[in-house]
Amino acid sequence: MRQERVEEYLGAVYRLRSDADTPLPLAQLAEYFGFSPVSVHEMVQKLEEGGWVQYHPYRGVTLTEAGTDAALALLRRHRLWERFLSDVLSLPWDEAHTVAGDLEHAAPEAVTERLSAFLGEPEACPHGGPIAPQATSALEQCLRSLGVGAEARVTRIAPEAPDLLRRIAQLSLMPGSLVKIVAQTAEATGVALLAEGGRQAVVPAADARAVWMEIV
Ligand SMILES: [Zn+2]
Repeated sequence: MRQERVEEYLGAVYRLRSDADTPLPLAQLAEYFGFSPVSVHEMVQKLEEGGWVQYHPYRGVTLTEAGTDAALALLRRHRLWERFLSDVLSLPWDEAHTVAGDLEHAAPEAVTERLSAFLGEPEACPHGGPIAPQATSALEQCLRSLGVGAEARVTRIAPEAPDLLRRIAQLSLMPGSLVKIVAQTAEATGVALLAEGGRQAVVPAADARAVWMEIV
């Protein structure tokens, strides 16, 4: 089994799971990768033999300590490369995410550390994901769940799907942006908000669930 494939799976489990103790259903992994449930099941068995995950029959998969460490190291590399591609090479942030997906497997640990030093030890990726292995803030809520009248700041965009990132960039909802919720409307319409400078925007409900906010 290739190291890159192992890392892809561990990273996906880490990103998709709701918390550390709740098994992630294999169906979600199959959907994420576009693989058949059978091939995902085989892969999970190999990962369990390697000590990376624990399989809970009929419920799904959790990461072992080794699996968690590997996933966090991968995310750190991913986010540092995104920072480099976006800040230094001026790639659009959806493209930075895609290219970082390749570079994250190729760079040795020592190169990652040099990259971090070169970038001035940044704290977050361009989409707001924390670079230091740490839990995200418990105070975060998604944009779709905020009450009308709430004033909040964008903390991060997750998951970082390229199509979603392009739409969010068009709405200028980058990490750090301040908004005020004007209306939470039907699923088909979404969230109406007032952004800095009095700019109005409507965020589709599905997209609003991927924009994470902190009340200010
Ligand atoms: Zn990112």
